[in-house]
Amino acid sequence: MAIATINPASGETLKIFEPLNDAEIASKLNLADQTFAQYRQTSFSERSQWLKTAATILQQEKADLAKTMTLEMGKPYQASMSEVEKCALVCQYYAEQAPSFLADVPVTTDASQSFVCYQPLGVILAVMPWNFPFWQVFRFAAPALMAGNVGLLKHASNVPQCALAIEDIIHRAGFPPGAFQTLLIGAAKVADLMADDRVKAATLTGSEPAGASLAAAAGQQIKKTVLELGGSDPFIVLETADLETAVANATTARMLNNGQSCIAAKRFIIAEAIATEFEKLLLDKFLALKVGDPMHPDTDLGPLATPGILEDLDQQVQTAIKSGGKVLTGGHPLSERPGNFYPPTIITDIPPDSAIAQEEFFGPVALLFRVPDIDAAIQLANATPFGLGASAWTNNHQERRRLITEIEAGAVFINGMVKSDPRLPFGGIKRSGYGRELSIQGIHEFVNVKTVWVK
Ligand code: NAP
Repeated sequence: MAIATINPASGETLKIFEPLNDAEIASKLNLADQTFAQYRQTSFSERSQWLKTAATILQQEKADLAKTMTLEMGKPYQASMSEVEKCALVCQYYAEQAPSFLADVPVTTDASQSFVCYQPLGVILAVMPWNFPFWQVFRFAAPALMAGNVGLLKHASNVPQCALAIEDIIHRAGFPPGAFQTLLIGAAKVADLMADDRVKAATLTGSEPAGASLAAAAGQQIKKTVLELGGSDPFIVLETADLETAVANATTARMLNNGQSCIAAKRFIIAEAIATEFEKLLLDKFLALKVGDPMHPDTDLGPLATPGILEDLDQQVQTAIKSGGKVLTGGHPLSERPGNFYPPTIITDIPPDSAIAQEEFFGPVALLFRVPDIDAAIQLANATPFGLGASAWTNNHQERRRLITEIEAGAVFINGMVKSDPRLPFGGIKRSGYGRELSIQGIHEFVNVKTVWVK
């Protein structure tokens, strides 16, 4: 895949980037390694100051940064603005919280003094996706830099200008050169990086094959990884739910980021008693969505990020139809216009045990299932290889408890859509990956948890 900016709304190639050659990669690795030796000695207050400056730059330049994001991957401009603001928030959060998250923890033992301390590991490689091209990077970079690690970013090949902008912001914020560098390289170079002694650990957000490949390379070298992979999140609506609110949230949760979010609601599991009404209300909402130019303020749904994603999504939709699915709206690419546009689509009646029902639909396609009761709802919610997030709607206290306890996922949101928040850990189980980002758990992923025992 070429490293290039291709406008997904028009198909136009705007800029092609030459990938780094081996000598350039080696020199950046060297710089990262040398920087770590000094950077680990910097104080929390220095790192905190730099991170707060990064937050200020993000706020000041959000209009331009958002434009770059929308141009490269097609999310609506307002959503790009919100993403930049959220990056500023995560910088502020870790600038303030990291010193307490990483403070020594005294433990009473048979020693005269014993405690746990947290030390940085060194150079951490971040392999990141295009769908939240700023957020995914900052939610890694903010805690990693506060912990005293240095970062190397291999961003998705379709968002090179975002990748370079992030490196530039972190440098201008005051971090030493080498504390955070972007490597414009293809995916084929990642295994070599993992094999390099100077790279101590890695995090990858992306697809299962990419995660498996990185984890295999890291496993060969006994290196730590965090994997944030795909999801097919259930959105369960039971009889006592506030239906109007649930439908409004269902629409937002499915259409977030033009449908391309790992924690988007993808399978709508609705109690039979309210399913017909839910279906009708959801259809109305989907029909009201405006599809079009993502730079236009009225647009709800922009293009998919690449022609490949459009093709894959359409193939899944056609397979769902062949498996028995009925299309209520959408169901074919909007091929009369340039760009990678797919309409809001609703499919009902897919047999829950069909192979296609197990897959992640990475676009604006909602799969609707009807269930007789909460037992069937939980069973269907868990009948997927993934376990990232789940949203469930009910006003019955006992049902709430069961959903919280029995759903297999890294997060359960009751009467709300799944979202990430710097204050709460984020990550999955099963084939959605392992490890956590954000909150105290996120900053503890890439540190040496050192036991100290003094007689
Ligand atoms: P992808 O193809 O896996 O790409 C993600 C990143 O991995 C890119 O930088 C890509 O580089 C790189 N990559 C691809 N193949 C690789 C390999 N064999 N070895 C090492 N690196 C490799 O992901 P995508 O399809 O663009 O993104 C969508 C997926 O990400 C969905 O499944 C979504 O659910 C998941 N996602 C998960 C989260 C989460 O937090 N759990 C968040 C967002 C997205 P190139 O671009 O150069 O190929």
